[in-house]
Amino acid sequence: MTKQELQPAGIFKYFGDICLIPHASKHEKEIIHFLKSFAAEHGLPIKCDAAGNVLISKPASKGMENRPTIVLQSHLDMVCEKNSSSNHNFDTDPIDWYIADDGWIKAKDTTLGADCGIGIAAQLALLVDKSLVHGPIECLFTIDEETGLTGAKALESGFMTGNILINLDSEDEGELFIGCAGGVDIVGTFDYTTEPLPEGYALFQYTVSGLIGGHSGDDINRGRGNAVKIATRFLWQTQQACNIRIGKFTGGNLRNAIAREASALIAVDKSQIAALTQLFEKHQAEIKIELSFSDVGIQQTLAETPRTTDICLIDQATQTRLLHCLQACPHGVIAMSHTMPGLVETSTNLASVKFVENNRILVGTSQRSSVENAKYNIAHTVDAVFRLARAELKYGDGYPGWAPNVNSPILALTKSAYQRLFHTEPEVKAIHAGLECGLFLEKYPQLDMISFGPTIKNAHSPDEKLDIQSVEKFWLLLLEVLRGVKS
Ligand SMILES: [Zn+2]
Repeated sequence: MTKQELQPAGIFKYFGDICLIPHASKHEKEIIHFLKSFAAEHGLPIKCDAAGNVLISKPASKGMENRPTIVLQSHLDMVCEKNSSSNHNFDTDPIDWYIADDGWIKAKDTTLGADCGIGIAAQLALLVDKSLVHGPIECLFTIDEETGLTGAKALESGFMTGNILINLDSEDEGELFIGCAGGVDIVGTFDYTTEPLPEGYALFQYTVSGLIGGHSGDDINRGRGNAVKIATRFLWQTQQACNIRIGKFTGGNLRNAIAREASALIAVDKSQIAALTQLFEKHQAEIKIELSFSDVGIQQTLAETPRTTDICLIDQATQTRLLHCLQACPHGVIAMSHTMPGLVETSTNLASVKFVENNRILVGTSQRSSVENAKYNIAHTVDAVFRLARAELKYGDGYPGWAPNVNSPILALTKSAYQRLFHTEPEVKAIHAGLECGLFLEKYPQLDMISFGPTIKNAHSPDEKLDIQSVEKFWLLLLEVLRGVKS
């Protein structure tokens, strides 16, 4: 099969055009320019806002003028990842895409940008095709979804007029998305003073590793171990039973990842070495059993390490506050959804503990929920834990969620269109992670939204691939929905 033979031809023609234009996140200038020429060439009204978001409108087809306006939305940027062997330059080079024998489209050594290029291509194909039947259409293109949701955040009220929005950024054909989680993050800070290692103490290095980790939203309900929580549990129990002091304690890294590794320096009164070792063995055995189905690779070590003169411990009072704080800080699923079985509604991630310069310890956390009030409530729980431990705390920029509405009219219409076309039921889902849709609701609270797309695997990695057949089904569904929207 050649590129020209790919169907639907319109989508693949524009997908090819988009691949020629560099469009990394925060580098959308050229693709915006392309949209402007496109609109001029086809005589379509276009407007841009200060952030760089673009809206191209198309009037209704004949006889459909009284139908409601539908907004179709994609994001203009792509994630730029390449294999280490590749010298591809994302600022200048086109994406080198090809048709693989197994029915997928891939790119040579780089991300493909089907996320969200195929959504953009579908919008353009729709905008130019005069044979299609639909009401008024507004195609919204947002910037910088991947690295900051910048365009969606900056979108002003009144920029678009439609009350129904179809987001084209989903990656599983046959699945309809009707909700996402909002997020917020809180960092707690402890200041400490250093103290020398007391006489008569021995030093141990304690480590946790081998955990799977994963995304703090998508994977939070998989029962995987959190290295910071596991290390804290050992240190807290030991602190209650023995005279221990701790030095550097680090674990986790990104706020949106489950902590996979942690380590701590432990000083113990020499008379209690045996007690420490016993506690460690008990702890190790307990955790091994607890994770024996969900995170089997865990490794924990406790090894004596030589005393050196430069070893510093944190002061006793801060140590106590820090360990109580980390022990009390919740982690994991807080609530499951009552409207969407199987969906995590609310969760929190104890993401990291880091010793940074100027004798400070940072504790990173992030909270998610599809229900806005529940998101703030779990954030306030973490906030209260930090306050009790007398840590300073700081909230990061949050983003709102999109609460699933199982009675949404656009959902009912899309479901029946899907059944009519493919004689099977689509799956209706929501995700426990952020989407632009949540942000749109801030300025457009009346929006009725749905998200669907063709099948894309391994997005955000050089293994990204697009299922060719699923593009045709995605296109047929889109046209059927546009035809069917009445009020
Ligand atoms: Zn995307």
